[in-house]
Amino acid sequence: MNKHQRTQIEKLLDDLPKTERVRLFKQAAARRLEAQRARKKHEDPDDPPRARTKDDTVRDWAIKILAERAQQNDGARPDPNPDSQTVHRGLVVSVGRRSCLIDDDGRLESCLLSPDIAARQHELLAVGDEAIYEPAPPPGRSRLVRVLPRRTSLSRPDPRQPSRTRVIVANIDAVVIVVSVVAPALHPRLIDRYLVAVQRGGAEPIICVNKIDQLPPGDRSELEQLEPYRRIGIRVIEASAETGAGIEDLRAAIAGKTCAFVGHSGVGKSSLANALDPSLGVKVGTISEAHRRGQHTTTASSLHVIEGGAKVIDTPGVRSFSLDNLSPEQIREAFTEFSPFVDDCRYNDCTHLHEPKCAVRAAAELGQIPIERYETYRRILTEAATDTATERIRPLPESGDD
Ligand code: GDP
Ligand code: ZN
Repeated sequence: MNKHQRTQIEKLLDDLPKTERVRLFKQAAARRLEAQRARKKHEDPDDPPRARTKDDTVRDWAIKILAERAQQNDGARPDPNPDSQTVHRGLVVSVGRRSCLIDDDGRLESCLLSPDIAARQHELLAVGDEAIYEPAPPPGRSRLVRVLPRRTSLSRPDPRQPSRTRVIVANIDAVVIVVSVVAPALHPRLIDRYLVAVQRGGAEPIICVNKIDQLPPGDRSELEQLEPYRRIGIRVIEASAETGAGIEDLRAAIAGKTCAFVGHSGVGKSSLANALDPSLGVKVGTISEAHRRGQHTTTASSLHVIEGGAKVIDTPGVRSFSLDNLSPEQIREAFTEFSPFVDDCRYNDCTHLHEPKCAVRAAAELGQIPIERYETYRRILTEAATDTATERIRPLPESGDD
């Protein structure tokens, strides 16, 4: 990282909303601890103590994590000439095969993609990206110059080439995982996979359980499955797009944020968007048009500003997540509620599966970590290790996705 890049990342860090900063610093503290433990492990206890270089601070680690996230995006080099009169900057609101639409202060600009960005567009460009563009011949046309480093993202393996990443949305503050009760019934395993992906990408996860009007009166048993998530500090909102219950809670949770709504089709994502902002009625029409995929669209995500100022990115193509491009370490890191305990495991590289004196397993047995979350961790890790299981967690076929 050169000095200019570091300054840019530091600015990104200082501009982060408070909740995101807190999350990032927690992650940074865990990474720092992990690095210290790894170093200790490689030190020979018989060696005389050496003068050691000072440890990186938690802030340094936070910067490192932001830089890594930015690096996921190859095109994300900082603008070398930010003061130039001819380059402009804006927010990517939709992405096509050869062009994208950029919102520059309310003005929509259609920008051509360079062949190299177009070739790896799923990785390099996503709705929510901040991008630099410039006028290009013929007059009146523009072209995308580069994509700026991302603060956060939500990504998954490319369904066609699992070794490649497909970025679904960029720079979201929160991901609202929408589920429903009764029809379709609550499906915690899908929540679990989304959570791993959201934690990895750095956004705040929010669970919104819709259709609570369908619950039999006085019977909350289906909702009990959400308790483990509440216990680890994830906000769970009970709502009904039909009756309006919980809609104000949802509005408050996303106020001022850029967020993506994800979840199975039929759980009520479009209905919730409409309930949040009835004037979206028209815009939701646009969303369903995106479902049909015009010939220019390869990503059906689109961004809408709703009443109250939140930006909502609708992701119609995403119904499920495969996690098969993640290493066991990456899966482990995504269970952030384990981090207060990992330091007490006997082995530095404890997988928390079978090792003696594992503090994470002990915490789960004592109820300090919800046992359901520990079991989810075991399941996801074991599934990731076996090809046959990977089949089971492959994404469902997606409407118009490819
Ligand atoms: P999406 O595919 O996730 O965008 O789901 P939709 O918004 O299209 O909703 C799917 C179906 O569920 C529609 O028939 C809606 O009328 C219905 N629906 C959505 N929200 C609610 C709700 O809160 N209660 C009930 N009873 N039905 C709902
Ligand atoms: Zn352990």
